[in-house]
Amino acid sequence: MSKVRVRFAPSPTGSLHIGSARTALFNYLFARHMGGVFVLRIEDTDMKRSLREHEHSISRDLHWLGLTADEGPDVGGPWGPYRQSERSHLYEEGVQRLLAEGHAYLCFCSQERLDDVKKAQLARGEMPKYDRQCLSLSAEEVESRLAAGEQATVRFKVPPGQIEYQDMIRGHLSFASDVIGDFIIKRTDGGFSYNYAVVIDDMGMRITHVIRGEDHVTNTARQLLLFRALGEEPPTYAHHSMIHAPDGGKLSKRHGATSIGEFRDLGYLPEAMVNYLALLAWHPGDERELFRLPELVEAFTMERVSKSPAIFDIDKLNWLNGVYMRELSPGRLYSQVEPFLHEADMHLEPGQREVVAAAIQSNLVTLADAPTYAEVFTADVDLKDSPHLAALREPGVTQVFSLLEEALAQFYDEYLSVEDGRAVVRMVAGACKEHGIKGRSIYLPLRVALTGRNEGAELYYLVAGLGRSRVLARLEAARAYL
Ligand code: GLU
Repeated sequence: MSKVRVRFAPSPTGSLHIGSARTALFNYLFARHMGGVFVLRIEDTDMKRSLREHEHSISRDLHWLGLTADEGPDVGGPWGPYRQSERSHLYEEGVQRLLAEGHAYLCFCSQERLDDVKKAQLARGEMPKYDRQCLSLSAEEVESRLAAGEQATVRFKVPPGQIEYQDMIRGHLSFASDVIGDFIIKRTDGGFSYNYAVVIDDMGMRITHVIRGEDHVTNTARQLLLFRALGEEPPTYAHHSMIHAPDGGKLSKRHGATSIGEFRDLGYLPEAMVNYLALLAWHPGDERELFRLPELVEAFTMERVSKSPAIFDIDKLNWLNGVYMRELSPGRLYSQVEPFLHEADMHLEPGQREVVAAAIQSNLVTLADAPTYAEVFTADVDLKDSPHLAALREPGVTQVFSLLEEALAQFYDEYLSVEDGRAVVRMVAGACKEHGIKGRSIYLPLRVALTGRNEGAELYYLVAGLGRSRVLARLEAARAYL
């Protein structure tokens, strides 16, 4: 069997939707699993709606997910160009061939006439389709109408019979070709239709497997007919289900984020997105749920892709995001949350960063939660607003403050490591024990003194991440309330 070659073929008319991202992912996984090639093809034939900036944002989002193409407009490859707008000469060549071999014909019908035909067919209760008026035009007539400057489309002559194929996900599918009218492959404006261009591209790019959403199933019938007319072996098709909203409807803006860029801005990690998208309608075959991209490549097979609709479940995505965030080292986590902190105008000193990241790690659902939890390490505290001042009036608190000051005096840096923060708290706790000071005179009073709050990050994170000057200043300020 020839080497597997698949393509992801987005139209650059908007940003990368999670449904398309999942199509890209399935293509990528299948290609990598089979040792094949993953091609990116930009379907920019809709000149009005296609924008280069959308193409760039799609490429950037694919890259962010880790789905880098082996061939495509940016990296090139042997069967380019990889933008449809640059392939018109190839489409024209195919049209000429289909015309010469009698698989296509010119059609001069006006839109008004086509509309009338359609109306009459509907009135008779028939399926509307082109009535083939121009199929019987003689060569001379075609010549003279063209010479007179009349505009023509090129229509594919749909042969009679059944169209059958084996879909890798949906099984055996069959269509009667007589419901398909002779469809346009080249428009009067010189542009080529989607179904036609895709066939020329899939052929020219040596695509062996077409993996795409089930919204394309009916297109496949037309595409198979074109392959047959061109005398080429069609690729194998796999149509996966679409992503539905929890209410069963189509996933749309009203359900929240729908594009990869939006999920990134909401603070989801690419590992979580990839893992989540893979699990939508792909079943690993056992209870395991955590898969990074290389593990997915290993485990992915088309047989385990379900044809039932995939229901979007934000709780599952949040759970996965939490898992991957907790796997990051504090340094890596900090670099991921940094843009969100900046966005919130929050700046952490280099010495604070890893401590704060470690302190907030278990609280985060998304990276965007970071400012909420990190705030305690940067914000000023005015104790007079705190509702927890009573905690400071426990016996021995003055002494506890002094013990903390003494313990801190043994460190020179402004910020302590988490380890040193732990050591400081242990020292204070040990000394308190010797002096018979009870727990409730230690932890809550210190927390209130340092943050004004009665809950939040562990005390050793606060001691380490607030920095010596802040800790000492806050203890000093808190003495006024003892
Ligand atoms: N450009 C088409 C789309 O964005 C994909 C076509 C295909 O995969 O054949 O839906």
